[in-house]
Formats: sequence, C-alpha cells, structure tokens
Amino acid sequence: MDVKGIIKDFGDNIEIKTELPFLDKEYFEKNIKGRAYTKLQENNEEYWAIKNNGEYIIDKFKGIDKLVEDLKKESVLDPLTKCYNKKGIELLTEKFLEEFLRYGFPLSVMMLDIDFFKKVNDTYGHLAGDYVLKEVANIIKNTIRKSDFCGRFGGEEFIVVLPNTKLSGAMRLAERIRENIQNHQFIFNNQKINITISIGITTASKSDSLFSLIQRADEALYEAKNKGRNRVEYR
Ligand code: GH3
Ligand code: MG
Ligand code: MG
Repeated sequence: MDVKGIIKDFGDNIEIKTELPFLDKEYFEKNIKGRAYTKLQENNEEYWAIKNNGEYIIDKFKGIDKLVEDLKKESVLDPLTKCYNKKGIELLTEKFLEEFLRYGFPLSVMMLDIDFFKKVNDTYGHLAGDYVLKEVANIIKNTIRKSDFCGRFGGEEFIVVLPNTKLSGAMRLAERIRENIQNHQFIFNNQKINITISIGITTASKSDSLFSLIQRADEALYEAKNKGRNRVEYR
C-alpha cells in the first residue's frame, strides 16, 4: 500500500494525519465518513479511502496488480472460505467495471447461492453448513481461471468476477461450476449431503454502475431460483 493518510474518527473529535491538502475535516465528513470504501479523485490523482477497524486509510491507487496484491491482506479475505469478502470483491468489480467503461474489455459477473442451505444447517448442524461453504468455495476456485476472482458476498452467497469474459464464456463456466457442485461428494461425519447451487449471470454494459451490475446478476439468480434451482440464468 502507498498510504497517503490516516483518519481516526472518535465521534466528537476527528484526527487527520496526511500530506494531502484537500483532506480536511469538511472533506472527510462529506466524502468519506461512514463508507466501507470510496474512490476519491482529486487533482487528477486517484485515491481510495478504505475503512478498517474504525479508522480510514487513504491509499494512492496504483493499478490492478498493486490492488490485487493489497487485497491478499486479511481485511479483504473471508476467513472461512478464503475467498474475498464483500468489500474485497466490490473493490475488484469496481476496478474491472472501470476498465470496461474506459477500454471496452468485456466483464461478466456471476452470483451463486446454495440451494436450500438452511435445510443443511437444520438437518446436519451448523458445522456441517460451514464445511459445505468451504467445499463449495474450493470447487468454485478450482473451476475458475487464475485471472477470475471469487468472493463471498453474504452467508451462502458467492460472487465470481470474470474480467475479459463475454456472456457465452461465463455461461459455459457457470454450467461447469453447477455440474461440479452437483457431482461432488459432500461427506460430513460419515453422512452424505446433497448440494446444488443456483447461478445468475450478467455482462457489463456502458450504463452500468457497480450497484446495477450486481443487482442484475442477482435478478438472474432469483430467476434461477424461481425456475426450480440447480440451474443457470442470465440477464
Ligand atoms: P434458497 O434455495 O432459496 O437459497 O434457500 P436457502 O435455505 O439457501 O436460503 P436462505 O437465504 O433462506 O438461507 C440461508 C441460510 O444460510 C440461513 C443461515 O442460517 C445460513 N448461513 C448464513 N451464513 C452461514 C455461515 O457462515 N455458516 C452456516 N453454517 N450457515 C450460514
Ligand atoms: Mg440459498
Ligand atoms: Mg441466500
């Protein structure tokens, strides 16, 4: 990281340590306060403000390689599955969306949700549920390419970000993930657990924001659920 500032918010008192002239109390309250992360564009430079344990780190942005390197840190990884957590995967998605908007590199996003996962917890216990989450994450990671990214978006919901991938390629990959999960032997305490997953896919378009992109993938996922689960849909 190339840290350009650290802000501590004590509520009635704000402590700002930085060499950046624009970064004062007013700027902080207007643009940064309360957000998990946010991109700042000042004087033709790009910075990220990332909230970390009650303090905000202002980081000079240095391209995707640097970002990925930084993202390997604990604070953007989900401890259970070792996928990126929500913050990490959102940062990555935003970066690739930006590259798509600027250069036109295609970008596809996949939302995945384990089918009837509540029943797994209820029938086999919470530890079995955690085991299934880890196995599913491993299957996803082993099926995607090195240049793709897996994140855990919520409880039993994953997101896969596919840079330089069109819808057709994303569909083929999603189908492989779906099959690999259906065919995998999930065994916990000598009990076999049947697991399937539903997947929604979308591809970035020029009018997209991070929010609209993820929302569309989510809508496709819900269509997959409504049409009977254990299937892939796209929007
Ligand atoms: P659907 O097919 O519609 O997705 O049904 P579902 O039961 O999977 O969906 P729902 O979202 O209702 O249930 C998700 C459950 O995931 C609820 C919660 O108990 C469980 N869950 C969330 N996080 C964790 C976790 O970290 N570990 C375990 N074991 N369970 C979790
Ligand atoms: Mg589910
Ligand atoms: Mg769910």
